[in-house]
Amino acid sequence: MSQIYDTIIIGGGPAGLSAGLYAARSRMKTLLIERAKYGGQATTTDELENYPGSIEDCTGTTLSERMRKQAEEFGTEFAKDEIVEVELSGDLKVVKGRKETYQAKTIIVATGATPRLSGFKNELELRGKGVSYCATCDADFFTDLDIAVIGGGDSAITEAIYLTKFAEHVTVIHRRDALRAAKSLQEKAFANPKIDFIWNSTVEEALGDEILEGLVLKNRETGETSELKVDGCFVFVGYDPISKLFEGQIEMENQYIVTDDDMKTNIPGVFAAGDIRKKLLRQVITAAADGAIAATAAEHYIENHK
Ligand code: NAP
Repeated sequence: MSQIYDTIIIGGGPAGLSAGLYAARSRMKTLLIERAKYGGQATTTDELENYPGSIEDCTGTTLSERMRKQAEEFGTEFAKDEIVEVELSGDLKVVKGRKETYQAKTIIVATGATPRLSGFKNELELRGKGVSYCATCDADFFTDLDIAVIGGGDSAITEAIYLTKFAEHVTVIHRRDALRAAKSLQEKAFANPKIDFIWNSTVEEALGDEILEGLVLKNRETGETSELKVDGCFVFVGYDPISKLFEGQIEMENQYIVTDDDMKTNIPGVFAAGDIRKKLLRQVITAAADGAIAATAAEHYIENHK
């Protein structure tokens, strides 16, 4: 625990990587700690059509790798570790990982969110055996097969459209009779001959022992149940914030971290950025913007506490 960083960024998605870039450009001694893959949720999508400038050849993975490289070139250090405990109240913040303990004057929390389970019977048992939460990772397994997508938000519709490049047919199962997704996405999905919709329905159970064979659906209006034969089922019913680590220290609402416009939390020297924040729009562009603001606010904090 020898080094004291100006800032430690917890989480290597677009918010964390952007914070890394801005912090390092301000000549802050910066460490970014990520437990798994850089890029976070962004790496689970191939379609980034609403990120300015990402017209062609720009997947979530390629954009994230460019962001990581850019932050590194300006001097951000990277560590692969899972943080298990934080002590945030003192002037020196302590972050304990499975491998090491780290110290910094400021912390930027950018831990993001994780896919939510739909809650049907057999969901966990058949996870990875036909039930998936990542189209980019698993689409290829379902080439020329029939699949279902659960959900009606941006993720479900973006990924349903993407999955038509692989699957024979995609059935979107939504619990209401109207989609939540952006209108432009809806128009694309409705015009796609490979996609159809089952409305007002929920998935009650996944059928199959070793591998997914079908779904039991329940119509929420009539109460009737039916079976849908599918080879794959992609679940996109939202995300849960990864904030448990900060409970009891950082102020939250519904498990999302509350910040002001400068990404400041209730704890001096602790900032939050990206999907972990309570906010209106959770996208790569807003995550990147949060990261830039958080790093700048952290720099100001250090300047004012000399
Ligand atoms: P979301 O907007 O929260 O939508 C979740 C969808 O799943 C809703 O349609 C919801 O139904 C449904 N749902 C929730 N729980 C369910 C359950 N247990 N069973 C069945 N259906 C359930 O989540 P998201 O689509 O993952 O998007 C998350 C955030 O990322 C949003 O801010 C979104 O704008 C952003 N995002 C943007 C893009 C893009 O711009 N291209 C792509 C992906 C994500 P109801 O509609 O009835 O509530």
